[in-house]
Parts: sequence; structure tokens; C-alpha cells
Amino acid sequence: MKLIVLGAPGSGKGTQAKFITQKHRIPQVSTGDLLRDAVKRKTTLGVKAKEFMNTGNLVPDAIVLDLLKGRLMKDDCLHGFILDGYPRNIAQANQLAKITDIDLVINISVDYGLLVKRITGRRTCKVCGSIFHLEFNPPSKVGICDKCSGELFQRSDDTEETVKKRLNTYENQTKPLIEYYSSQKLLQTLISDGTIKEMRHKVNDLLEKTFGS
Ligand code: ADP
Ligand code: AMP
Repeated sequence: MKLIVLGAPGSGKGTQAKFITQKHRIPQVSTGDLLRDAVKRKTTLGVKAKEFMNTGNLVPDAIVLDLLKGRLMKDDCLHGFILDGYPRNIAQANQLAKITDIDLVINISVDYGLLVKRITGRRTCKVCGSIFHLEFNPPSKVGICDKCSGELFQRSDDTEETVKKRLNTYENQTKPLIEYYSSQKLLQTLISDGTIKEMRHKVNDLLEKTFGS
């Protein structure tokens, strides 16, 4: 199962990718997570990437490709993976095609107004990376992760100002991938206008229809 989850920032890619990981035992490969880890560790790559991330721009293709290749070479990706946040433009999609084939692209479609609300209310666990939302998926105890009791934080790029720039970047650079994968007959669009649970069912149904599991 080699999947891409496509969608605007805040559409719920990470949330659904984590469910797929649990059910199908394939890893979630999030270039955003890989980059944030590099920023946190202050690696040369991380230092370069930080300014692009904080201003809502895409990190240069070559940097992200290096990170991605390193991750896909690991053993746990041998039987499949879910790409979350990659590719982000046509050049990256062409580079990806040289590394691996893809079975299915799940495109999560969400209204613009809802996206801003989802992103600004997002809270993430510092320890295990679980994703919560102040209104739509609140933790049982304020600021504490339900799964590991880690501290929840707001991503530095999840402010209203940066969000607008990120959504702009999505419109201009990432959205053309819908047509790109649609023309290759790999794309299935799911509209996310309901709860996280409802979306989880839609994704499960699609995977069952496509892979029979
Ligand atoms: P992405 O990975 O696409 O940026 P996330 O999975 O991190 O998006 O989701 C963004 C925010 O929206 C999170 O706070 C998450 O809890 C919330 N969220 C995800 N899916 C839904 C949904 N169907 N309804 C309401 N909130 C959602
Ligand atoms: P995400 O966690 O997917 O929302 O990504 C957070 C930020 O990381 C983005 O706004 C970009 O700056 C950067 N990023 C993540 N994935 C990519 C990618 N495939 N190409 C370029 N930049 C990326």
C-alpha cells in the first residue's frame, strides 16, 4: 500500500494518516515532521529549512528530497507507506515518480473557512506527536496529551498570519497536483465536512474498495 494523502494545510492529512498507520501497519512519512525534527535538532538542513517554514513558504525541493529518500530507505517502508505533505508541487511529484510508484492518492477537500479554524485550534503533543484540536478534538485534560501525558503545544507556523500564506502556497503550488494525479487515474477525492470519525469511515471505505482490506 503506497499512499499519498493530499490536501491543504489543516485538512486532516496527519490525523487520517495516523489512523491508516494503526490499521494497516504502514508508516506515516510526513515531510513536515521530518523537517520540524531537523529544526529542533538544529542540523545544517534544519537551520536552512526554518526560515522557509516560519514564513509559510515551501522548503527548497532538493532539501526535502534528501530527507524523504533517507526515510523511504528504512526497512519499515518496505511494504508500503503513507506520504503526508509530500509532494507539494509538480517538480516534487516528478522526483517522487523516479523513486517509487504510488497506488493511490487520497485528496482531502475542505472549505477554506474551516481550514483556518482547524489550523489555529490545532495542538500537538511534544512527546508522541498526537494531534488534538481545542474545539473539534479536545484532550481530556487541558494542555495534556491523552495518549502519553506529554505537553501539548501550538506549532509556531499555526498562527493566523502564517496560515494565510501557507494556504496561498497551497493554492499556487500544491493544488495543481490534483489534476496531475487525476490524469494518472490515481486520485480519489473525499470531502471532509464532518467529524474526524466520519472522515475516518470514508477513508476506510475507500481503502476497502481499492485494496480489499
Ligand atoms: P494536516 O496534517 O492536513 O495539516 P491535521 O491532521 O493536523 O491536518 O488536522 C488539523 C487540525 O484539524 C487538527 O487540530 C485536527 O485535530 C483537526 N481535524 C482534523 N480532521 C478534522 C475533522 N474532520 N473535523 C474537525 N477537525 C479536524
Ligand atoms: P506540514 O507539517 O505538512 O504542514 O508542513 C509544515 C511546513 O514544512 C510547510 O509549510 C513547509 O514550509 C514545509 N514542508 C513540509 N513538507 C514540504 C515539502 N514536501 N516541500 C517543501 N516544504 C515542505
